[in-house]
Amino acid sequence: MEMKTKTKSYIMPTYGERDLVFSRGQGCYLYTQSGKKYLDFAGGIAVNSLGHCHPKLVTILKQQSEKLWHTSNLYKNKNQELFAKELCNKTFAQKVFFTNSGAEAIECGLKVIKSYWNLKNKNKKNIITFHGAFHGRTFAALSAQKNKKYSDGFTPLLSGFKNIPFNDKKALENSINKETAAILIEPIQGEGGIRPASLEFLRYVKKLCKKNDILLFLDEVQCGFGRSGKLYSHEWAKIKPDILATAKGIGSGFPLGACLANSKSSIGMTKGKHGSTYGGNPLAVAVGRQVLRIISDKKFLKKVDIISRYLWKKLKKLESIHDEIIEVRGAGLLLGIKTKQNNIMISNRLKKNKLLTVPAGDNIIRLAPPLIINKKHADEAINIIDQTLKKLK
Ligand SMILES: *Cc1c(COP(=O)(O)O)cnc(C)c1O
Repeated sequence: MEMKTKTKSYIMPTYGERDLVFSRGQGCYLYTQSGKKYLDFAGGIAVNSLGHCHPKLVTILKQQSEKLWHTSNLYKNKNQELFAKELCNKTFAQKVFFTNSGAEAIECGLKVIKSYWNLKNKNKKNIITFHGAFHGRTFAALSAQKNKKYSDGFTPLLSGFKNIPFNDKKALENSINKETAAILIEPIQGEGGIRPASLEFLRYVKKLCKKNDILLFLDEVQCGFGRSGKLYSHEWAKIKPDILATAKGIGSGFPLGACLANSKSSIGMTKGKHGSTYGGNPLAVAVGRQVLRIISDKKFLKKVDIISRYLWKKLKKLESIHDEIIEVRGAGLLLGIKTKQNNIMISNRLKKNKLLTVPAGDNIIRLAPPLIINKKHADEAINIIDQTLKKLK
């Protein structure tokens, strides 16, 4: 029997109480010390894109750890240069700044915007963001979202952000003026409740950006890096951003993020304008390049697309037979189940039944499994959800 004892914690209690401890992970499963096995559809909050301890990532990290860990960005890092080139070759971007997290990639993108308009037009100082958005926990990121859950008690926040309804063309049109510098949007909102922007809305955003000389900044920290079945989810709308924040899945668990930008928007990011001690460090770059190599493969992305459609179909079936499910939504392998009863309660029941999920806003149970799941994993998850919901009443 595993004893649960309440011991004094020296960690700031920002995450509340946690009792589940994992000691090992392999593929799509996590294991406790006593060998209890959990199917991981939380994926470390959409991070473990290649599952746990992917053999190729283990090998590359071991190899790099025996050669070089860290030099700082005072010295040229050839692999970092190569990684940036590889990212640019596969995306809209021509310039990259490496970070250690999503919020830092957002911060960098905001500085790209500020520095651009500082050179081009000082009147452009407002950034449009959307209801339900989540961009991270730093001050600029908190300022960009209007969600009291995250920003309560941290005022004053930064000015210059205008928060408007999501997926609402009229509201967007009405909020644009001569001071609009940029639009910052998640193509699929994650924390806010797995709400995809319609492809039509994304195209409209792009159109207005072009027409009104506005920079388009996409936050693909959660929905990017293969999760949608394309390397970046905006590719579904056939649009190109000026700036993009990427993190989470890019390192499959190794802390890594990046701000991608086109050459136009990044003209202000000259010598001395930004920095990061660790950003793009040799360990992170070694892992990131390997993750990119695997995930950007067309065959891999096709597989993600196929399995995500399979999972979607099965979830829709559950929706039709379970009164408890109000709606299934999302895209690719970023899916949400909106339930009648409390999402956290149900997520805890699923956990008891050995399926890990993550609650999100709007009473959503979020599924963000590793991109390597197969039908067997999908069926196993569906079965646990089905059984759990049956026993809820
Ligand atoms: C997680 C997340 C962030 C913040 O990333 P961190 O690595 O936690 O700083 C920003 N934007 C989106 C859309 C996210 O999901």
